[in-house]
Amino acid sequence: MDKFPGSIRSKLQKQDTSIFAVMSALATEHNAINLSQGFPDFDISQKLIGLVHDYMLKGKNQYSPMVGIPELREQIALKVDKIYGAKYDRDKEINITAGATQALHTAIAATISEEDEVIVFEPAYDAYVPLIKLHGGIVKFAELKLPDYHIDWQEVKKLLSNRTRMIILNTPHNPTGSVLRPEDMKELAKITANSDIIILSDEVYEHLIFDQIQHESVCRYPELAKRAFVVGSFGKTFHATGWKTGFVLAPEKLMNEFRKIHQFVVFACNTPIQYAIAEFLTDSTNYEDLGKFYQRKRDYFLKLIADSRFKVIPSHGTYFQLLDYSNITDESEMDFAIRMTKEFKLASIPVSVFYHKKTDNKVLRFCFAKKENTLERAAEILCRI
Ligand code: PMP
Ligand code: GLN
Repeated sequence: MDKFPGSIRSKLQKQDTSIFAVMSALATEHNAINLSQGFPDFDISQKLIGLVHDYMLKGKNQYSPMVGIPELREQIALKVDKIYGAKYDRDKEINITAGATQALHTAIAATISEEDEVIVFEPAYDAYVPLIKLHGGIVKFAELKLPDYHIDWQEVKKLLSNRTRMIILNTPHNPTGSVLRPEDMKELAKITANSDIIILSDEVYEHLIFDQIQHESVCRYPELAKRAFVVGSFGKTFHATGWKTGFVLAPEKLMNEFRKIHQFVVFACNTPIQYAIAEFLTDSTNYEDLGKFYQRKRDYFLKLIADSRFKVIPSHGTYFQLLDYSNITDESEMDFAIRMTKEFKLASIPVSVFYHKKTDNKVLRFCFAKKENTLERAAEILCRI
């Protein structure tokens, strides 16, 4: 239905409900193990919970400053300096957001107008395209190349025009687990030099990177950082997706535009959680081994399914593992994911939903941010299929 009663038209006429909501609901309905939507099924740090509680008792329960509390912005500035050698001004270039989702939305709202072109790599996290369209932007799709889902920079060059306003990056990459390399960053710097293209870099999995690979944050590259919004999420870093607390880094001019919108979207974010995270971040052991932690989970999951008929597509980051089922059935990804949930009681995500043409490579995404027991029960099912 694209028309409501009266003259109001849908702004996203063909928009389906997010696959994450759909598959999690299906998993619940069929009492299936849920490896679909990405979220941990284990407890978060008791210390972090205690800090939120303490700050609530200390009366930190009213609006925070619009841009976020200075203590948290300070810790983020120190962290990106320490890890990426990047200097961000605590007051002018860092903003706390209601999860990465709000940061993505606000960055796009602040910079994309009618007819502006945005380059998006597919498969693409499901929020990017609707947000661009909502603001009248035109999406130019560049397909990541199999088997390892790398960027073909020659193809990207061909998509550039004088209307290209933004390129959206995501590394480590959801849903594929691929990661950008220094060569990619150099190519990106080359093609954006002397342009006014903005980079929106979704780095929510910055600490979830494996195999001793270095995370190529845009922050490491001043020539890229000067034109970039860099987006992070404490939901991923502290296993607390339900807390919906994230941040954005950007040079002052971009940040000024971001803030003009941020103030009327959320105004400010959850106050006690900001205080708790600010204190928690002062101890880097609270996040620096995250890559190793999730690598162990990935490796355990892969060991458990080694004798299954699924083919593994290497994942170097995120908490997602792609599995190719072409040895098992010709069913579409969507049909197989639904049948697997209903009949085998295991939910996953069909990767085809992340392509505008619903490209079907017979690949499903499984979230391994789970307790050992959950992974064991899931693997037992996968080995039976
Ligand atoms: N970007 C990517 C690539 C993600 O996987 C997620 C996780 N849901 C988000 C953004 C949104 O993060 P948040 O939950 O902090 O809004
Ligand atoms: N990022 C998570 C995933 O990819 C879910 C986010 C959401 O539910 N919107 O599964």
